[in-house]
Amino acid sequence: MIATQGKINQLLTESGCEHNQHSQKKNNKSCRQQAQPGAAQGGCAFDGAMIALVPITDAAHLVHGPIACSGNSWGSRGSLSSGSSLYKMGFTTDLTENDIIFGGEKRLYKAILEIADKYNPKAVFVYATCVTALIGDDIDAICKIAAKKTGLPVIPVNSAGFVGSKNLGNRIGGEALLDHVVGTAEPAYTTSYDINLIGEYNIAGEIWNILPLFDKLGIRVLAKITGDARYQEVACAHRAKLNIMICSKALINMGRKMEEKYNIPYIEGSFYGVEDVNQCLRNTAEKLGNINLQWRTEKLIAEETAALDVALAPYRDRLKGKRVVVYTGGVKSWSIVSAAKDLGMEVTATSTKKSTEEDKARIQQLLGGNGITLEKGNPEEILRIIKETNADMLIAGGRNQYTALKARIPFLDINQERHHRYAGYVGMIEMARELDEALHSPVWEQIRKSAPWKVKEK
Ligand code: SF4
Repeated sequence: MIATQGKINQLLTESGCEHNQHSQKKNNKSCRQQAQPGAAQGGCAFDGAMIALVPITDAAHLVHGPIACSGNSWGSRGSLSSGSSLYKMGFTTDLTENDIIFGGEKRLYKAILEIADKYNPKAVFVYATCVTALIGDDIDAICKIAAKKTGLPVIPVNSAGFVGSKNLGNRIGGEALLDHVVGTAEPAYTTSYDINLIGEYNIAGEIWNILPLFDKLGIRVLAKITGDARYQEVACAHRAKLNIMICSKALINMGRKMEEKYNIPYIEGSFYGVEDVNQCLRNTAEKLGNINLQWRTEKLIAEETAALDVALAPYRDRLKGKRVVVYTGGVKSWSIVSAAKDLGMEVTATSTKKSTEEDKARIQQLLGGNGITLEKGNPEEILRIIKETNADMLIAGGRNQYTALKARIPFLDINQERHHRYAGYVGMIEMARELDEALHSPVWEQIRKSAPWKVKEK
């Protein structure tokens, strides 16, 4: 994909995204707004493209730019692999001033050849950054020449950071897969129950909580896009019968375009919270259109939920009625609310940042009349809401843990930096355990005590 303005505009106004349908109706151009210099954008487009593609574990990911770009994004996500660990290796062309003046194409070409020679990857993804886009390096041409020389797929990702936000970068990553990877290989065999999971990045190994469920139903996950993926499986993804979009907004362009090009329908789903896991399995079985499969799905749901009820009973007793503020983004804004409610907790407020209109409708439904929604939050605002709603706990991303500590309340990390798997039925038990341990840690009693020198002597 050449990053022309037209192509970028097309990704910014992706018709599959609820935001844009809303924007067109209301003539709201917010989705097309460029990143504002000086304002925190939550990651550049390059960062977003890396997030979407780096979980392809047996490929090398080469950042063509100054070393700081690579340092900015390397290791920021806890995507795990069940095989190759090549994806964790930080490759960069590490441009110098000289390259910036005379061009970095030769350096890029040599770097690809060196990687092919020393590391034997299944493919090389080459990421453009602001600097290499500005000096005009033609990474598409270099990738083509290097692919011919090495015999490997070498995929250009035109992800200059300045083109936009992290979300746009996710879509640019998706476009690179659509243009250069999906449809370039054929699976050894196909079945009527082949599906792709799109937008699940195997953070903390969550996909391993989900795959056994599909396995039990006889549904084959043909391609994981891209958590714990191998290059070959993504190349075969065009033979699936159904795409399941896990984080609806991030790679929605892949779902829509694969439907257009390969006639693969897509559904959206979440694996957080009992109800949502049940619904996702039901919708998958229904879409695959086999009555026997639907019957087996209901049987599996009944078995899993019965076992889960027994496992969760002691936690539900201890968590019941605890009040939480959830501050996260996108699909998690409602899926985590749903999971907390399943455990008997009361969600007093949640954020709606990066949420689609559909996400917001779900949030309203889950919170009922009294819940507070936060469109934009900062630590001061979150502290105010915690105080106002008398919350017992904050569930948010890692950067907000100090906000919770300032409020002297427990905190649960829900974002990409987390080390625990909360997806699927097994994930609910893990989540309940983490919530319980955080809430009932003896440290809170100590922290909330007045300092000894403030206690009056009797
Ligand atoms: S790509 Fe651009 S915005 Fe992103 S880290 Fe590199 S220099 Fe910064």
